[in-house]
Amino acid sequence: MITHNLGYPRIGSNRELKKSSESYWEGKIGLEQLIQTGVEVRHMNWQMQKELGLDLIPSNDFSFYDQVLDMSLMLGAIPERYVNLKNNLLKSELDLYFAMARGYQKEGYDLTAMEMTKWFDTNYHYIVPEFLKNQKFELSSMKFIDEFMEAKKMGIVTKPVLIGPVSFLMLGKEKEKNFDRLDLLSGILPVYREILSRLTIHGAEWIQMDEPFLAMDLSQKEKESFRIAYTMIKKEFPVLKIMLTTYFEGLRDNMELAVQLPVDAIHLDLVKAPDQLEDFLAVIPDKLVISLGIVDGRNIWKNNFENSLSLIKTVVDKVGENRVMIAPSCSLIHSPCDLEMETDAIILPPQIKEWLSFARQKIDEVVTLKQLATTTLFDDAIKAKLLENQQAILNRKTSKLVHNNKVSDRLKNIKEIESLARNTFSVRKEKQQKNLNLPFFPLTTIGSFPQTNEVRRWRAKLKKKELSIENYTQLIKHEIEQVIRWQEEVGLDVLVHGEFERNDMVEYFGEMLDGFVFTKNAWVQSYGSRCVKPPIIFGDVQRPNPMTLNWIKYAQSLTSKPVKGMLTGPVTIMEWSFVRDDQPRSETCYQIALSIRDEVLDLERANIKIIQIDEPAFREGLPLRKADWKLYLNWAVKAFRLTYAGVKDETQIHTHMCYAEFSDIIQSIADMDADVITFECSRSQMELLDVFAEYKYPNDIGPGLYDIHSPRIPAKSEMVNLLMKAALVIPKEHIWANPDCGLKTRNWEETKSAISEMVKAVESIREDALKS
Ligand code: GLN
Ligand code: ZN
Repeated sequence: MITHNLGYPRIGSNRELKKSSESYWEGKIGLEQLIQTGVEVRHMNWQMQKELGLDLIPSNDFSFYDQVLDMSLMLGAIPERYVNLKNNLLKSELDLYFAMARGYQKEGYDLTAMEMTKWFDTNYHYIVPEFLKNQKFELSSMKFIDEFMEAKKMGIVTKPVLIGPVSFLMLGKEKEKNFDRLDLLSGILPVYREILSRLTIHGAEWIQMDEPFLAMDLSQKEKESFRIAYTMIKKEFPVLKIMLTTYFEGLRDNMELAVQLPVDAIHLDLVKAPDQLEDFLAVIPDKLVISLGIVDGRNIWKNNFENSLSLIKTVVDKVGENRVMIAPSCSLIHSPCDLEMETDAIILPPQIKEWLSFARQKIDEVVTLKQLATTTLFDDAIKAKLLENQQAILNRKTSKLVHNNKVSDRLKNIKEIESLARNTFSVRKEKQQKNLNLPFFPLTTIGSFPQTNEVRRWRAKLKKKELSIENYTQLIKHEIEQVIRWQEEVGLDVLVHGEFERNDMVEYFGEMLDGFVFTKNAWVQSYGSRCVKPPIIFGDVQRPNPMTLNWIKYAQSLTSKPVKGMLTGPVTIMEWSFVRDDQPRSETCYQIALSIRDEVLDLERANIKIIQIDEPAFREGLPLRKADWKLYLNWAVKAFRLTYAGVKDETQIHTHMCYAEFSDIIQSIADMDADVITFECSRSQMELLDVFAEYKYPNDIGPGLYDIHSPRIPAKSEMVNLLMKAALVIPKEHIWANPDCGLKTRNWEETKSAISEMVKAVESIREDALKS
């Protein structure tokens, strides 16, 4: 039995790499210093995995920005626009690499960065490879060899990690029309051959080929590409051991294809898709090694040793110990680094800490599982580990911190709450209009206004108790008053309070709900040097006290115009947290929904006429396999509807999503039945037209009139055009006018100019609308 790991976090336990890269980009440190940080992080990771007793340690899992970008560079898929730069200006490979990742605006160059997108259904973002029809590939970076040799010097023969040829092509995008990137396979395979042959010469025994697409929906051609690629590799390298790693989903209909590929081992994600094991064992070929991904690489819960051991035993009984490997379910870059960094018992109470496991602890779990599975008479230390694990699992299962009868009782009544239906939209709209008396194209914003450093400093001081809660409240109230006054002056119709009191739209609510804990250091890489620190949902969720009520009431007291109550939706709160694994996600989502509903009802009671429940992560939650979409959409829509179940027809419910890719889920968006939906549209006008021309979305729509992600001030005429375009496919009495997202990240100057242009755009159309 061999233990191994698919990849270790490279940001460093103290985010050393993040800090170093950012200093380098700002010109504060030199290249040598950044490279040195890389060396140190790798050494630390290798040394630690070795000391913990892991058999097969990965290399080339380190990255200065992103592992997909590493592959693009290695394979020579360097977009045309950087080639000149590379030849003329850049001294180092790393500078070229950063230019590809971040763009290059210096010395007369204005090169855009390569596109970035989400890595499957995780919160990690990768740099999308760009392909041309006659794309040439050639070995262009020796990082994989350098790292292999570096570890070898430490006495570790690592398992180099590569993204396999088929997944690499599928991760990319055609930048020209009329060709299919899979047709580039024959061009890319010779470079893989060169890479593998160099690794062989230098003494590599195992190669990890990441082919996550093998666990996704595949076309015939994509399946065939797998056959071609791995047949070639086996033919050229009969002795080198290839481990094909799949993760985030099960093999399902690709099972037969997978087991027929001439590889030496296949890795299965048995956390996400445990059911595939039985099917896999039924068809496993004679010599194939099976790698069991049993320690959750994407969540923070301690492994249940008893369950894992029984699973390992089933497999060992079937194929024998020699053909079994154990590992985390996927790369650990999706886990925080080290639980031992969490030393503040007030932030993370020891009773809860005991249930958790971060990357370093997960390696230890893998190693311990092997010890427990392979010895019958283990020593006291190992026995103690088993007992400790069982105790922690039991504690979590029975903990009063986790279970709250009030919450479970309420959930039993969910049917009743659900049935508190409102009238149809047209009836509601009439009542709301009477109540609100809004003009054509009502003008509003998405919720937040610029959050200055000063406001952030107040919050930091409050946390450190350098500022009293009374003083803090006064300061925030003053901000609210100013922003209300300004919105009235500029001429917006539906106002917001500006969200100055919020650090983050999920953290803010999590901190006020039961069932959440936070950490000090549990950072996870999101993209490049950017990291996030998701809250942990450990128990039943309920709202002990109102969360936004006083702020919103105060804001409304200042003006006769309607102020929107501003909440984050249950799907988004869940998607952006570590979620408990001891009950279905849907259950957790309903609990959050009912907590948000408490707030909605309080706001309504306080005479707030419009309530917005943001769901920017609604689409993100979609399962990777299309066959599972329906189930997800059903409960996600239900959770959203629960948040406003029982409100009066007169109360107007808004929602917001930060994108416009609705075409495949438009029915579910309609089923959410918010009275108004605002979304991104300025960058994807065509999509808006397609979707809304085809599907008659019944309720009100606020297409984002300008892109808030850029400092550019939009021209009035652009926004007039967009509104006119929208009016061609959406009845004009259904259209709202707003920016495409919150304004938190912009500065005041930009915001004031942009919003005032937007108001002018709408005013000019209103005049025309009245004339016609
Ligand atoms: N109401 C939030 C804001 O304005 C919405 C943010 C988001 O969509 N991500 O900041
Ligand atoms: Zn948004």
